[in-house]
Order: sequence, then structure tokens, then C-alpha cells
Amino acid sequence: MGVIDEVKQRTDIVDIVSQYTRLTKAGRTFRGLCPFHSEKNPSFFVYPEQQSWHCFGACNTGGDVFSFIMKKEGIDFGDALRRLAEKAGVTISSRSEPEAGKKERERLYQANQAAAQYFHNLLLNSPAGGKARNYLASRGFSPKTTTDFQLGFSLNNWEALKQYLVSNGYTESELLTTGLVVEAEGGKSHDRFRNKLMFPILDIRGRVIGFGARVLDDSLPKYVNSPQTPVFDKSSSLYGINLAAAAIRQQNVAVIVEGYMDVITAHQNGFNNVVASMGTSVTEKQVSILKRLTKNIALALDADTAGEEAMLRGVGYENILDAEVKVIILPRDKDPDDVIKQDTKTWQTLMEEALPVIDYTFNMVSSKLDLSTAKDKSIAVDKLLPIIAEIKNDTRRDHYLRKLAELIGVSYHNIEAALSRIKPDRRAKEPRQKAMVSATHPLLSSPLEEYCLALLLQYPALTDGGQGLSPEYFEGSENREIFIAWQKVKDPPSLKAELDTAIWEHLDSLITKSLPSNRIEQKYADCVLRLRERFLRSLEAKRGEILALEAETGGTAAELAKLEEQGIESSIQLGEVFTQKSEGQYQRR
Ligand SMILES: [Zn+2]
Repeated sequence: MGVIDEVKQRTDIVDIVSQYTRLTKAGRTFRGLCPFHSEKNPSFFVYPEQQSWHCFGACNTGGDVFSFIMKKEGIDFGDALRRLAEKAGVTISSRSEPEAGKKERERLYQANQAAAQYFHNLLLNSPAGGKARNYLASRGFSPKTTTDFQLGFSLNNWEALKQYLVSNGYTESELLTTGLVVEAEGGKSHDRFRNKLMFPILDIRGRVIGFGARVLDDSLPKYVNSPQTPVFDKSSSLYGINLAAAAIRQQNVAVIVEGYMDVITAHQNGFNNVVASMGTSVTEKQVSILKRLTKNIALALDADTAGEEAMLRGVGYENILDAEVKVIILPRDKDPDDVIKQDTKTWQTLMEEALPVIDYTFNMVSSKLDLSTAKDKSIAVDKLLPIIAEIKNDTRRDHYLRKLAELIGVSYHNIEAALSRIKPDRRAKEPRQKAMVSATHPLLSSPLEEYCLALLLQYPALTDGGQGLSPEYFEGSENREIFIAWQKVKDPPSLKAELDTAIWEHLDSLITKSLPSNRIEQKYADCVLRLRERFLRSLEAKRGEILALEAETGGTAAELAKLEEQGIESSIQLGEVFTQKSEGQYQRR
């Protein structure tokens, strides 16, 4: 994962904004006095779900957490990123730094291993470890499990581990690099993990690469992990892989769950082919690790997010494996941990009933539609055909084309013709490594924004030249930054010079992103429209929420009138978008 995404993932905009203005919860949002202009009635809102903010008062503007810090502190994107990265415990390595040497890495593994043993010993033997032992017993974990997974306990002490490791010959700088120790104010440093249940994370070769840690009470966050280090990258690691590899090979199937506890419970109950993605969505890098062991992968997903996950990324995984990926749908509000503990047979059944990801997507899409109507048939095609188009394996793509044709009752040839209209030109296929890079940025990235930027960057001849776009259509600050810079200069070297080095990696991924090579103008125009529509809709939704709140709390008539006026303006603009859209569609027929 890139640092920008990692910082986003570890930062909560409500926490950050709260440091500048007092926020009170109002429905699904938080509101407060705008930190940018002076006002008596709060018109500044923070949206935790979208991780965004908006001022409906004098500023009438908004953005994400980066733009908030940039505006508030008067700094540029790079400095905002570094400031937030520091708060979030994300290390930004500068590009000029040489790749960490083999010897140095070896020291890091050793330091991690020593820490794991230290924590494990504390768990087993120290009086302070009693509560952790009780916790493990309450979860039903056996002593063998505790040993197999080298579980541990970190003392409620700022320097215990640091002193232990220093006395064993590790330097403070090495410990900082492992992330076991963090830098504090005034050049001091202290242990990152304190008073926690420790889960060492091992790679497939059995080396300790990092740690997960869980609180032993109800405080939040429940889990913290090691930061990215020269030996640890969460998005390309799988918890439990060291213990699961043999079983995965033998059974020729791997199951990916989310959490540490899920893996441990599974293994204790004899399901040794289970690994965890550690809280984030599964990445293609993780799938690539498993590919060396088996082609058969099943994702255990909870019922609420399964659909999205399956639709968004299932095909990408399948293309890497060149095999089907299956989906295990968990009962609502249950983790694999719960399911297995309750009854191992249920888990067995769920695995047997796992559906190929595309079949599952078919079921999900069609369950919400009435496929006897023309309208819903066309919705089904709109949703499913782009997914089918992504399938690289010809046999499987053909299979699902037939399935779709059957589902909506049209001839195979019609569907095939529709497919050839949307399918990217295969001859202009991607430089192979690229699929990986984009795929390690799961939900954090904004595919539409990035697609649009990639078109602009790769096709300088686009006639519109970005005219239809406005920086505010880009919700991701990194994308907004690139767009603003691109408005000034177009060629990559000058573009880089305009941008902070922290954005270069992201820029490179856009410049090399694989794109279709036909009907570029049309695709670009569609993109601009969709970005504009998304922007206006999100503005309307935000305004709607506020109007409802104002009405409840009796906002002043003048404010209400102003908001409504703004609302009318944006509905008119939204109307224009729809007109353009339908005209565009008409022209294409
Ligand atoms: Zn304001």
C-alpha cells in the first residue's frame, strides 16, 4: 500500500478536526463552528463515513483530511501528508534512501524474533501477564495454540522492551526501524506496544516480520499493528501463513479470513488452511503469495460487505490465479471465530456451499431485480457485463456471457456484441506489473477519479483539455493535487517538479495505468460527466442532511432559505448533467 493510502486508513478526520474546533454529533455527521471563518452558528460539518468535511457558510467548500490540514496550517500537500503520517505512525521513506541492505534486514528479523520471545515469555510467566492468560482462556485457546502462534504480552511500561533489546545489543535506530519503538517529543523514544496481547506476524519462511496487538479491555482502537518497515508491508502479508502453508498445499485450497482470532480459532479446530488479511480488504499481493501454494482460494466475507468486495475485486484475483475464487458468506454479524466455536460443522457446510465469486455476483444482482421487465434487464446487463469483460480467461468469460444471455432471455450474439463494445482492446494490454500496483490500493482509492486523470495524462490530445473538470470534483487530495498541477504543466518531468515527491508514486501509477485504446474522447466525456454528477449528488446529500437537522433544531429562516437556494442551484446543474448524458447516449445509438 502506498503511504498516502496508509495514512488515510489510519487517520480519522473527526479526531483531526476536533483538534481545531469543537464538534458535536448530529445524526450521522458532526458539526461545529467553522475553523476557517468566524461565525456564531455552526455551519461546518464533518462526515465520518466519507472522511470528508464541508463548510456551508462563507467558505462553501470542503475536502478530505489532507485539504483540511493544508488549509488550516497553510502548508502544501507533502507537508500535510508528513504531519499526518507522523501522527498515524506511518514511515515515509524518502526516495533517495538506498534500499535497505540484506544485512540490515537480517538484523530487523532478529530484533523482531527477540521481541516475540520476550513477549511470549511475559505471557507465560509474568504476574502482569495474568489478565492476558485469563483472556486467552476465556476465548478457549489451548496452551498448544498459544505456543504455536507464539502469542505474547507487552508490559504496561514505556521502556521495558526497548531496554531489553538494547541490553541484547540492538541499537535504538534499529529498534525505531522495526517499529517496535517510536520516536517521541524531544528526541526521546518509547515502546510502541504496551499492555497488549501480542500476535507476532511471520512470513512464509517463519521470520517474524511485524506484530499485531490487541487491547485487553474495551478501549479503542482494539487492534494496532506494526507500521510499514523494510521487512513488513501489511498489504503483502498474511497472518498465519507460516502455519497454514503446508495444509494449503495439501488440501489445495486456502481460506482467507479477516482477523487474528479467526485464524487462531480455525487452526485450533483443525482448519489449518486458514490465513488472515489482517483487517483490510484482501489485496492482489496477498493473493499472489497464495498462488504459489494453490489456485483455489475462498474468501470468508461478512454478508454486509461481501457483495461489494466480490464485485470490486473478485475478478482481479481470478485473473492472477487463472482460476475461480470462491466466496464463503458468513451469517450476519458473525466472524469465522464465532461460527467455528459454535459448531465446526457449520463452518464445514459454509465452505462446501461456497460459490464462485461471479456466480455469487449474478445471484446478488438478480435478486434485487425483476427480470421480466425491460428496465431491470438493462440494469442487469449494465452491472454484470463490465465484470464479465474483465475476465481474462476465454472459457470462463464465454461461460458467463452465456449465463447472462440466458438470465435476461436474449441471444448469445447480442450479448457478445454488447461485450465487444465495452471490452478494452486486448492488443494494447497492460505492462504486466501494473495490475498489481493499482490493486494494492483497495477501497481507499477512487477508481473514477484515477481513470479520468490517467486518460488526461496519457492522451494529451483530448480536445476538452480538462475544461469540463473542476479541482473540487476530485475528493482525494492526491488526485486533486495532480489535476491542479496538470492544469499548469503537462509533460511528466515538469509535472513531477510541480508535485511533492510523496505523490510521485501515485502519479507514476496513473501514467502507466492500462487503459482502453478506443473511443477515448467518449470515455473521457463520460468520466467528466460522472465526476460532475457525483460531486453534485454528494453536495445535495450533504445539504439535505443539514436541512433536515436545521428543521429539527429550528435553524433561522434566513439560513434555511440560503441553503435551499444553494440546493436549487445544484439541482439545476444536476439536471444539466442528465440532459448531457441522455444526449450522449442518443448520439451513440
Ligand atoms: Zn467556513
